[in-house]
Amino acid sequence: MTTKNPFSFSCHDLPRRAGEMREYELTYDEHEPIGVPLLAVPSEGPIYVDLRVEAVAQGVLATGTVSAEALGECTRCLDPVTFDIEETFQELFHYQLDYRQKPKSNPTEALVDLDEVELLEMEGDFINLEGPIRDALVLNLPLNPLCSEDCPGLCPTCGLKWIDLPADHAHAASDIRWAGLTDWKSPNS
Ligand SMILES: [Zn+2]
Ligand SMILES: [Zn+2]
Repeated sequence: MTTKNPFSFSCHDLPRRAGEMREYELTYDEHEPIGVPLLAVPSEGPIYVDLRVEAVAQGVLATGTVSAEALGECTRCLDPVTFDIEETFQELFHYQLDYRQKPKSNPTEALVDLDEVELLEMEGDFINLEGPIRDALVLNLPLNPLCSEDCPGLCPTCGLKWIDLPADHAHAASDIRWAGLTDWKSPNS
């Protein structure tokens, strides 16, 4: 059993009787960075999970609210951007086969189902919350984060922020972009 996974959660205190329930407030502040290339919860950034585990007939139903702050860069002006995440998840973790009652009529049918649907299974008393937490954090992150919806970005020629430039900012026809292009061509000629 892997206990190194910080998101592996022990349901040891939850009796295996349908209807039993426990609630927890969890904080994870040591983990891999989680996010998309331009926006992620940094490795030391806390991830808060309000977790409820309920014993049901087949296993443990885990319901959580995940909150964290992702950090990144505005894709237009490269200023730092923060993005608050608050998402919920719900997953059913099945008891391992050993713990479940063997189906009476056709045991192989139950096994085939298990393979095809890829049910989440408990590992002993543990449920692995990494997938649900990761999905909750990542799935709603914007792929192109912006410091503000109307961020004007950078002047493509000089790379300065439009917001810092005078309204009449412009470059002459023989500007640095074309100078750069000439330099780039010269080795071939
Ligand atoms: Zn911006
Ligand atoms: Zn410019």
